[in-house]
Order: sequence, then structure tokens, then C-alpha cells
Amino acid sequence: YAAMVASSAEAVSGFWSDWMRTLGATDRIFSIIDDSSVPAKVSQTPLCLQGHIVIEHLSFSYPQRPQNLALSNFNLTIQPGEKIALVGPSGAGKSTLANLLLGFYQPNSGRILLDGQPLTALNLADVRSQMAIVEQEPSLFWGSLYDNIAFAVPGGRPSQAEVEAAARQANAHDFILNFPDGYHTMVGDRGVQLSGGQKQRIAIARALLRNPRILILDEATSALDGESENLVQDALERLMAERTTIMIAHRFSTIAKADKVVVVDQGTLLEFGSHQELRRTSSFYQRLLQNQHSERQVSLCS
Ligand code: ADP
Ligand code: MG
Repeated sequence: YAAMVASSAEAVSGFWSDWMRTLGATDRIFSIIDDSSVPAKVSQTPLCLQGHIVIEHLSFSYPQRPQNLALSNFNLTIQPGEKIALVGPSGAGKSTLANLLLGFYQPNSGRILLDGQPLTALNLADVRSQMAIVEQEPSLFWGSLYDNIAFAVPGGRPSQAEVEAAARQANAHDFILNFPDGYHTMVGDRGVQLSGGQKQRIAIARALLRNPRILILDEATSALDGESENLVQDALERLMAERTTIMIAHRFSTIAKADKVVVVDQGTLLEFGSHQELRRTSSFYQRLLQNQHSERQVSLCS
């Protein structure tokens, strides 16, 4: 079975990784693949990342489109605990960078260092156990809300109390208890339908339980309703605290919270600086903000 999964994973790696992430990047699935397709590089001591990231001369094209460089000589250093906003037009390479950080693909050239060690020299399952991604439109799998939060936790099943604590921090506990079956409420195709904001808060609770050192947020482009947006933003702030965070950001309110903004265009790092600096000096950035503004009527004041 493991061999079959591994070979189909190679054949349809794009689909496969998307699907796994949809499921919440479960380590159970990764461990099946890692065991058979990735040479064992198990270090003696457990990996405890600080969350220092160096991206060096990174170039990458997807296997299906080898002529099209999705990332081209990309360089970036991120300090532990730093919050970086990645902004740029659609197709710029932002999600691709996240895919490479998570080790879903190998770069054509260049490398990624985590705490000074090349990603390729680290055990991927270890690395992923210290990362979490909250995706644009988190989909929940068929199962209870409890399982949907508890599923992707490395190192065994969390207790009811841990799941509830994460749900509270994610502003999900109250809406969960409003369902007659509470945490046992079934979701997914055959279960209750959750709003976009509720799904995001479940995904945030899941990420909080993982307690990752490195957090990747791929922000939803569609606006949530006002109340939901506030609850999601508030939960995200708790999730981001003291973690290296890479936010693929569309909303101005999110960008404004970043320590540094990285403007990505056509696979390259076009600009790098604080939001205030870039707003003064970069006409490309100004245009990006204007487009955000006209699409979503967010406030440009800060
Ligand atoms: P962004 O997240 O900034 O909108 P992406 O990283 O998704 O951009 O895409 C960067 C480039 O890579 C685009 O040209 C896109 O069409 C291409 N691309 C993205 N995902 C895939 C994939 N799975 N297979 C082939 N090409 C892809
Ligand atoms: Mg994207």
C-alpha cells in the first residue's frame, strides 16, 4: 500500500499535495510517503526549530510546466518570530513559495535553510510537524468538528481539554456549542454547512493545537462578513504571536500587521520593506494597494 501511495504521489504530486493540505496536512499520510519515498535522515535529537528561514537563490518550475519559472532567483531572510507579508498579483509565485517551504516540491536551484540547515538535510515529517498552514478556503473533511480540530496534531491524539482550549483561542468554541451536538457535530458534504469564517476558525484551532514554530497563512481573497472577519482576525493574532509567520496577504488590515512586506511579481522579489516605506517609495506597491482598495473597499488609512 505504501509503495502504491508513493508512486501515485510522484505521478500526481500537485494534486496529491493539494489534497493532503486540504485534509490538514496530516502527518499520518506524510509518514506513509516519507517512509518509502524519502531516504531516512532521522536525526538523533528531536528537531526543535527556532523559526529562522533563509531562502537562497531559489528557482522553481512546476514539473508540468518546465519552461515557466514560478520562482526565479528568489532571496529572503526571515528572523525567528518575524511576521512577513507576501503581496503581489495573482500568479506571482506566493503560494509556490509556501509549497517549497513545506517541502512539497524540490527547487530547480537554490535552497531553503531552516535554522541554518538545508531543508533537504532535515527529516520532512519533523519539519512539517513544526509548521502549520491556514489556507485560503480551508475545507473540512467528513467527521465531527472535534476530529477536524484534533486530526493533524503530531505525536498522538490531543485531549478534549486541549481541543477545547484551542477552539476557545480560535474564537470557535462558542459557535461550536451553539450546534445541538456541539463538538460531535458532523461536518463535510453530509454534515452541517459552516460559513467561510467558521471554517477558518476551525482551521486556526487546528493550527493552534499543532503549536508550530513556522506559520503560513494564505489569506482568503473573498471578504468575510464584518463580525466573522473580526473574530477571524482576532484568532489569527493569537495564532501568529511569537511564531515566524509568512502571510500571503490581500487585506490591508493584515498587511498592516506585518513587520516587513515582500512584494512578489513574476516569481521574483520586487520590493522589500515596511509597509510605510513601500507606500512612499514603490509605485508598484501603491498600485497593488489601489487594486485591493477598489476590489474590496478596505480602508487605506493607518
Ligand atoms: P500566487 O499564489 O502568487 O497567485 P502561484 O504560486 O499559485 O501564484 O503561481 C505561480 C505560477 O505558477 C503561475 O504562473 C501559476 O500558473 C503556476 N502554477 C501554480 N501552481 C501550479 C501547478 N500546480 N502546476 C503548474 N503550474 C502552477
Ligand atoms: Mg496563491
